[in-house]
Amino acid sequence: MSDRKCWMDHSGIVLHSVDGFDVIHCESCGFKHIIPIPDEEELERIYKHEYHVKDKPLMLQHQLEDQEWHDATNAARLETIEKLLGRKGSILDVGSGNGFFLKQAAELGWQAKGVEPADKAVDYCNSIGLDVTHGVFDQECADSIGKFDAVHLWEVLEHLPDPAGMLSLCRQVLNPGGLIIVGVPNDYNKLQKIVTENMDEEPWWVAPPHHINFFNRSSLENLLRRLNFEPLHHEISFPLELFLLMGKNYKRNPDLGRECHAMRKELELNLTRTGNRDVLDKFYKSLDEAGFGRHTVVMAGKKD
Ligand SMILES: [Zn+2]
Repeated sequence: MSDRKCWMDHSGIVLHSVDGFDVIHCESCGFKHIIPIPDEEELERIYKHEYHVKDKPLMLQHQLEDQEWHDATNAARLETIEKLLGRKGSILDVGSGNGFFLKQAAELGWQAKGVEPADKAVDYCNSIGLDVTHGVFDQECADSIGKFDAVHLWEVLEHLPDPAGMLSLCRQVLNPGGLIIVGVPNDYNKLQKIVTENMDEEPWWVAPPHHINFFNRSSLENLLRRLNFEPLHHEISFPLELFLLMGKNYKRNPDLGRECHAMRKELELNLTRTGNRDVLDKFYKSLDEAGFGRHTVVMAGKKD
């Protein structure tokens, strides 16, 4: 039997306990998250002193090697955003990292702006002519940054003590009829469950305190609805866990991670280069319906 735990206003069944944190399926939030929830000060200390993934030079090097794939992925995402909006316009990328999404948006004719807390990522973006503000996207930043037709939030919500607060800030900077695009890891999915239950693997996606929240498409859509957004479109990224089931244990051997990524990249680029992006979309759509996919992406419109 699973235990229930409470912490402040949060309570639910305990799914895992790692490093002094419990992951609960929180009944008040409607999604899974760790308790205790670290506060901003604690997280700032961790990110400043322990590491910042976006400051890792190797990450930029890998991203540059993957430029063609990033461009194809981001161009496809921007095409969907344009279809939903009915036009191109202004877009804010919150947590813009090394600026790969921003760069593609700017090249395709969007007015693209980023906000990013990692110094080196901001320096890099500014050196290639991208418009990126250095700092965190907080109330002060939201009050002064202007208004946008779309806000892109990629791999951000899972790290935040208050994801609902972040979505409210995004809502504040959206023009009427604006669009939010949220991408998060699709955690506690069926493939992860199969691997951990049958292949003697620990739940690798539980990484407190860096990952605080765990979403799937339905919990993300519900959170967006609660904040007065209307989900309009959803998609997934390649279910990387398939590689674990194919005997490529990239969790235990980081070199294999790069190899698995290269295989996924080849699949997507071969279908893109040959003009068969629609085949890829159909393939991923069927996986999305089945609940598979490493990331879940929801695009939602701002309601009045
Ligand atoms: Zn909660």
